[in-house]
Amino acid sequence: MFPEIKSTLQEKAMDMYEIFLKMYGERSLKPTRRDAMTELIMTILSHRTTAANEKLAFTRMWDYYGSWEAIRDGDTAKLTELIAPSNYPEVKAPYIKATLAKIIEERGEANIDFLENLPVDEGLRWLRSLTGVGIKTASLVLLFNFSKAIMPVDTHVHRVSLRTGLIPPRTSADKAHMLLLKILPNEPHILFNFHVTCLRHGQRICTWNAPKCNQCPINHLCDYYHQVYKS
Ligand code: SF4
Repeated sequence: MFPEIKSTLQEKAMDMYEIFLKMYGERSLKPTRRDAMTELIMTILSHRTTAANEKLAFTRMWDYYGSWEAIRDGDTAKLTELIAPSNYPEVKAPYIKATLAKIIEERGEANIDFLENLPVDEGLRWLRSLTGVGIKTASLVLLFNFSKAIMPVDTHVHRVSLRTGLIPPRTSADKAHMLLLKILPNEPHILFNFHVTCLRHGQRICTWNAPKCNQCPINHLCDYYHQVYKS
């Protein structure tokens, strides 16, 4: 599926991974408690939104409509108002309605569990054909709900990958998805734990405006550290 890439990057990624596991712990990859349909819509609501506001927006929407079909058929302005705790509700409301309309039309119901039986590439392609579903959302649903070998690249994973040099400078988050898959093992458990621990590292140590490089246990592996502190 993915072409060969330099082993040095693979070694760096695995060295980082081992250190991250010691720092942040290793978790088992279990399907999330939410069904895949809910996960998909909640992930759309989560973009640029806190977890608390994502949940509030979903709860307000579900309490009012009570079914996916009612959301599909409801008034866009009303849906926008209900999901307002989430950022960009005026963009997300039509996305959610269009996504639901396509799924129900194509599958006969609001259910995407068939993705479990599709190869990862096909599942990714299908999910990305839905309105408002990008590679991060699609990857998240496939990994978290169906334990597929794919890894979502959120803002923290993206930043840590750029600074350490796992991906070239100025690589977009979208492109980072495929580049990181080339250097990480094709193993859902590892991809899940790399995602979770790298995200924690970005939240706690490799923060956006003030990375704590001198306290960072992977600084010997990091391009940014060598450029800033060793040159
Ligand atoms: S050394 Fe600094 S820039 Fe590199 S990963 Fe650690 S905190 Fe981030």
